[in-house]
Amino acid sequence: MSPRNLVLAGVALTMAACAAPERDTPEQVGPLNIEAAGDGVYALIGPTEPRTEENLALNANYGVVVTDAGAVLIDSGAAPVAAETLHRAVRAVTDEPVKWVINTGSQDHRWLGNGYFAERGAEIIALEQTVATQQDFADRHLPRLERVLGEEAAAAIEPVHADEPASGDRHRVELGGRTLELRYFGDAHFPGDAVVWLPEEEVLFTGDMVYVDRLLGVHPWSDVAAWQEAYHEAMETLAPKTIVPGHGGVSDPAKVRAETGDYLDFLVENVGADARAWDPINEVMDRYREAPAFEHLRHFDDWHPTNMNRTYLQFEG
Ligand SMILES: [Zn+2]
Repeated sequence: MSPRNLVLAGVALTMAACAAPERDTPEQVGPLNIEAAGDGVYALIGPTEPRTEENLALNANYGVVVTDAGAVLIDSGAAPVAAETLHRAVRAVTDEPVKWVINTGSQDHRWLGNGYFAERGAEIIALEQTVATQQDFADRHLPRLERVLGEEAAAAIEPVHADEPASGDRHRVELGGRTLELRYFGDAHFPGDAVVWLPEEEVLFTGDMVYVDRLLGVHPWSDVAAWQEAYHEAMETLAPKTIVPGHGGVSDPAKVRAETGDYLDFLVENVGADARAWDPINEVMDRYREAPAFEHLRHFDDWHPTNMNRTYLQFEG
């Protein structure tokens, strides 16, 4: 190695050492903030920034429900390296092993860590419509994760699905004396997105149906009209007290309505309606570019124009 390369290697090592996660605490494991969301119920809150190697693509929220017979983990991270950090977060709140992993969705950071927990004996629980989308999208997620997490971490990913996905829109399970329901209210951020409802605690883990603190993102495959309907149906049917969103902090219903429900309404009632009336796209985009109710949300400047554009195209069709 040339002296210059040696210096560079030294710099790289020093940077790696700085980036290493600090020691786990009961409140913080790697990039995840741990918050109590009920008795034996925890939210693992990831950063609202994009996926990075440093945050292990754990830029989303997860959940832990402790039962007498083991721990339930809600969503499993985008790779084994992320799942291992989630596992440490579970250990920070309970000595119970992870016996069950529930998948709320099919985006990478919801389920590509399933294999890590399945290998350690956990049962994977998901709805049929969620698994169908996981199967559709796995190949698209992998190259992107390789770019973010590096070749080695990405090569360790094995797409593992629930052995026996549940059929229907409502799957109720009794696990170690606790009741959990996996509910599907309609396609949202991805087709087949589901939520986890704890009826006794009135806590709702929304998966990617709800974003707070940052603006939600409409992808080409997000069905905005279905998402708006699914959101309202879920909130009216379940009337949760505490909401652990897919992204952002633990919230009450008012905050969730203001930052997700009202924004979906804004898109559908303005951009969607004007697209249906065949108003030219540029005029519609200009008309609604300013949206003061949502401008405080992170990523507004990047995502709002994209969200309007995709909404327009969906409603135009
Ligand atoms: Zn997400």
